[in-house]
Amino acid sequence: MRCTSVVTPRVLAGVGVRPQGGPPSVDGHGLIGDRMGALPSGAGSLLRTSLLGWRGRLAAGRLLGGLAKVQTGDLGDMTFAAWLDRQRLPADARSLVEAVSRVASYTNAPDIAAADLVVSQVQLALGSGVRYVHGGWQSIVDSLLAGCRVHRLTATRVSAEEGHVVVETQEGATVVGTAAVIAAGTPGAAAQLLGRRPFDAGPPVEAACLDLGASRPSQPGLLLGIDRPLYLSNHCPPARLAPAGRAVVHVARYLAPGERTEPGEQRHELEALAARAGLTADHIIEDRYLHRMTVAGALTLAESGGMRGRPTVTDSGVPGVFLAGDWVGPAGHLADASLASAEAAVAAAVTLVGR
Ligand SMILES: Cc1cc2nc3c(=O)[nH]c(=O)nc-3n(C[C@H](O)[C@H](O)[C@H](O)COP(=O)(O)OP(=O)(O)OC[C@H]3O[C@@H](n4cnc5c(N)ncnc54)[C@H](O)[C@@H]3O)c2cc1C
Repeated sequence: MRCTSVVTPRVLAGVGVRPQGGPPSVDGHGLIGDRMGALPSGAGSLLRTSLLGWRGRLAAGRLLGGLAKVQTGDLGDMTFAAWLDRQRLPADARSLVEAVSRVASYTNAPDIAAADLVVSQVQLALGSGVRYVHGGWQSIVDSLLAGCRVHRLTATRVSAEEGHVVVETQEGATVVGTAAVIAAGTPGAAAQLLGRRPFDAGPPVEAACLDLGASRPSQPGLLLGIDRPLYLSNHCPPARLAPAGRAVVHVARYLAPGERTEPGEQRHELEALAARAGLTADHIIEDRYLHRMTVAGALTLAESGGMRGRPTVTDSGVPGVFLAGDWVGPAGHLADASLASAEAAVAAAVTLVGR
């Protein structure tokens, strides 16, 4: 798991969980066709990179250097592509910025994604950077569960009856309470539980993923497709995810909304990227291919007004039932949005119970 965020560490620290990890490799490269070149990570490498011509270097340097000052609050109605048009970048610099935006936001939909979301994610990635968490996502879940009483039930329906919230479950138990928070992952899952019409939310954000357990790290440690939406990164090291001396490498294709790739061809594309980073069958000990993973429940759309236009924690339509997830509320993206909305939903539920 990568943590590119400000909300997640704050909310987790509030419940006593402080994920530890390490920064990703500084050895970043980009791939255009078959040509590999160093990814610019600062002024010096920007001047040297073979990925851009001199006009592209100047333009990319100017844009990325000034990005921290961009106010994203007013960019919700604009698509990321329209925002890029305004920057008047040469084609090579635009491709590079699009590649950086994909890795920063996991989205590959510049023509419909809201610019407030994508630009703020790039600001985060270039600013506070990224941490790969020791033990992965599960270590955070384990820490959160320590000291909690957990009842594992599958909810089938959530409704309100006579001033109470009623949760029916697949196991036959019915749970009755004053308030409930639905955090079922996607707007579709929440709507189904509530028996209501679909939420006004964008299409899911999806990726094809290949996880590799390898006998050695990839070389380079980070390899981004500039002309294709591809990503490869050595997650271990720096994170501790494998036995000593072994590596874990994540390879992915950021799928465009509705994009359907053929599983065999898709896997082959990701294996070919791994081979470019020096990992062929001889080095691979374990592999796991996941053809279409849901990264976020819904893409934040410009046509809905961007982050401020997403459904809110109080939009369930059922009294006493609140919503949380990475598609809910005006703050953050991915885990950041889930935790920000969870914090707001729990506060609303506690207030209701307190009354
Ligand atoms: C490959 C990949 C890489 C990612 N990388 C990052 C990253 O680097 N940084 C980041 O911040 N985010 C990342 N994400 C996104 C992140 O995983 C999600 O944003 C986050 O998991 C959303 O959390 P959530 O709790 O809202 O939903 P989920 O994690 O989807 O959890 C929902 C839970 O609800 C359960 N559930 C569903 N229906 C019911 C029901 N009826 N009854 C009971 N339980 C139910 C599900 O089983 C699930 O456990 C990544 C995602 C993917 C796929």
